[in-house]
Amino acid sequence: MASREELEARLASAERRLDELTAEGARNDDKMRRSQAREVRLLQAETIDALFVALIDGLRVSYGVDYVSVVICDPDHDIRHLLLANGTPAEDFEDLVIVESISGMAPQYIALQQPWLGAFAACDHQLICPNAKDVRSIAMIPLTHRGKLFGSINLCSADAMRFTRDHAHDFLAHLGVIASFCVENTVNRARLLRSGFTDVLTGWNNRRYLGVRLIEELARARRDGSRLVCLMLDIDHFKRVNDTWGHAAGDAVLRELAQRIESQVRASDVAARYGGEEFIVLLPDTDSRSASLLAERIRNAVSASPVDIPHDETVEVTISIGIAEVKPSPDDDDLKTLGDSLIARADVALYEAKSAGRDRVVVEAA
Ligand code: GH3
Ligand code: MG
Ligand code: MG
Repeated sequence: MASREELEARLASAERRLDELTAEGARNDDKMRRSQAREVRLLQAETIDALFVALIDGLRVSYGVDYVSVVICDPDHDIRHLLLANGTPAEDFEDLVIVESISGMAPQYIALQQPWLGAFAACDHQLICPNAKDVRSIAMIPLTHRGKLFGSINLCSADAMRFTRDHAHDFLAHLGVIASFCVENTVNRARLLRSGFTDVLTGWNNRRYLGVRLIEELARARRDGSRLVCLMLDIDHFKRVNDTWGHAAGDAVLRELAQRIESQVRASDVAARYGGEEFIVLLPDTDSRSASLLAERIRNAVSASPVDIPHDETVEVTISIGIAEVKPSPDDDDLKTLGDSLIARADVALYEAKSAGRDRVVVEAA
């Protein structure tokens, strides 16, 4: 039987171990809490650009590391285009590396299933961390989709011992899983939003987009005390094109006319396909006079030369345009109704242009 001394020694040793485990548990609790808070911040990012900010700047601050970069493989230029459409081009993010293929970017990519922790080597990591300076260790956290690697989050530290092969990396692995999910989720969300605002045939913005922008432009005009002009454009006798040449020819005419109209408007103007063969252009901070000059230019661009349609045929097309303008007053608070009436008035002017013989521009009577 063990002596009393032995038992006391064992008990003391067990107590020490318990203290150690409790302390470790508390540390892990703390680590777990911080790790969860980080992941929640990523999950809360609603747009791709917000997510990249949370990944690059957010993780740098919350891990207290010296440099963070994110590498994303984007073979179809999909993410780049979504960022561009969102007004935050990829080039705005210095430490976001978007590539068509990740092969050759870093030797670890060949087998990056779990986070890779170790010494930072310029020859190996320069491409994935283009702006890293004076860093000595790196944690490469894989981003995967259905088991396939599509990039990495790279945490870099000036401390050589911050990330070594001996460090546990389960928290980092978990972060990688959450971040991968967030990338996919925000990209899908951006795709959905964009498809909901885009007309498939012409690539123009659609009526839904116009509805949103019209309210925004009215609010801006109200704030600045400026005018907003609305051009309503409708192809003349378009039904005849369909009836004579078929719908594919009609579609070709729609696409070509959208381009001819677009070639005349400024980037700051809002152009949308409003309905079948109707387009709307909103001109911020413009008066009816300059708007009718622009409308005449559009009308001429449409009728100037025949449009090519399938089977080497061509068709001559004209367009009629109605113009209305509004100058919101500071107490106009129902912008939706104001916008609807602006469009309705442009439609009345368009109807007059049609009645007067088509292929013309009519400004609404003052
Ligand atoms: P008006 O000069 O009075 O405007 O005569 P219109 O024939 O242009 O006007 P109407 O409204 O009678 O006909 C519009 C036609 O546009 C009918 C519709 O089939 C056609 N259309 C609408 N959307 C599309 C489309 O996406 N593709 C094609 N090919 N035709 C379309
Ligand atoms: Mg019409
Ligand atoms: Mg028409």
